Amino acid sequence: MTVPATDPGRSRHAQYPGRKETAGLDKIRAFVDTEIAPFADAWDQAEQLPSELLTRIGELGLWAPFLPPDDGGSGMDWTGIGQVHEEIGRGCSSVRSFLTVHTMVTWTVQRWGSAEQQARWLPRLATGELIGAFCLTEPDSGSDAAAMGTVAQPADSGWILNGHKKWMTAGQVAGLLLVFARTEAGMSAFLVPADTPGVRISPLNAVMGTRASMLAEIVLREVHVGPDALIGPPGWAAGTVMTGALDLGRYSVACGCVGVVQACLDACVAYTSKRRVRDGRLSELQLIRRKISDMVVSSRAARLLCAEAGRLKDTDDPATIMATWVAKYHASTAATAAASDAVQIHGANGFVSDYPVARLYRDAKVAEIIEGSTELQQITIADEAYREVAR
Ligand SMILES: Cc1cc2nc3c(=O)[nH]c(=O)nc-3n(C[C@H](O)[C@H](O)[C@H](O)COP(=O)(O)OP(=O)(O)OC[C@H]3O[C@@H](n4cnc5c(N)ncnc54)[C@H](O)[C@@H]3O)c2cc1C
Repeated sequence: MTVPATDPGRSRHAQYPGRKETAGLDKIRAFVDTEIAPFADAWDQAEQLPSELLTRIGELGLWAPFLPPDDGGSGMDWTGIGQVHEEIGRGCSSVRSFLTVHTMVTWTVQRWGSAEQQARWLPRLATGELIGAFCLTEPDSGSDAAAMGTVAQPADSGWILNGHKKWMTAGQVAGLLLVFARTEAGMSAFLVPADTPGVRISPLNAVMGTRASMLAEIVLREVHVGPDALIGPPGWAAGTVMTGALDLGRYSVACGCVGVVQACLDACVAYTSKRRVRDGRLSELQLIRRKISDMVVSSRAARLLCAEAGRLKDTDDPATIMATWVAKYHASTAATAAASDAVQIHGANGFVSDYPVARLYRDAKVAEIIEGSTELQQITIADEAYREVAR
């Protein structure tokens, strides 16, 4: 038996007093309930997302939601984008992952791209005709981006890139790669069309979670790009493009994790209300109810932390960076805890793909690794605490 990932009781938990929902969120919720959540397990098993879905996301203006509607976006602020990514995360973390990296790339072009780069790339990125991939991690350089081995050397007319990138979300279908590489001046970011000669893209399959996020490994061999591929001046990307884009990615993942906790809660409330043990239902057992109450509290707490990070982004307050670290740390660890409890509550049924919780469990774990691992978050948040005392 397949049960839906959500139940009508969700809206009661998803609210908190004073929460203002972004315009059109009801439409996105309905989109998730009818066009994403029911298919998430099938996509997970197929290890890919259908192209029609990517088109639909474009029709809803979600590929570049911060752009005005006339430019293919939906004119949303970051609070609204967070709420949308929560809803999408509730339905399918693979879809949310696509949106995360695509938003990172698109926003980079919008924020730091030249007028020519914006005119060349934004229209197709906004519709999803062109998917963006964020290419930072390498086989031997993950958390420590400074250890990156990819290099870009000046050539007569532009740059020559050589290197090896791994774990690119959406890399299998991406048309535009945002590639980070060393130059003599320091870390730089380049916009590289995926069909440039010398770019070799290989799918990464059989991963544990977000299996439909179409991961790829990308090798760059003597890839020649023009001067117009470079974003900003050489050596400028570390403190700007990388920091800014990763902050947005972290925010998106945090919001998506709120959706994962909500999906666990919805699935568990539905399951325990029906499942009978001995003389009653699972929902009547105190040890089960404790897990349910933990999910209610952690989803609300994570949602509030994400709302705070989004509000600070909307007012251009630099405090959003730390607020986003805190939100991501709490939301991702809450998601893994909730998903683990959700599998436990479902017993053997939690161990198979008939119910969504097995996928939620595998998907949740990824969020503790990407966009700053749990350990890096702990280090960063504690560092800030000591800095505050020293001030
Ligand atoms: C599903 C998935 C999608 C991804 N998508 C992308 C993408 O689109 N683009 C991209 O560029 N990358 C992507 N990544 C890569 C991801 O960003 C890296 O996996 C992440 O940065 C961690 O790097 P690593 O895997 O090399 O782990 P490592 O950096 O080798 O870390 C291994 C472990 O050591 C811990 N550790 C590291 N440093 C410290 C420290 N100083 N103190 C204490 N503990 C530490 C880490 O927390 C971790 O637990 C993706 C990864 C996955 C799994």
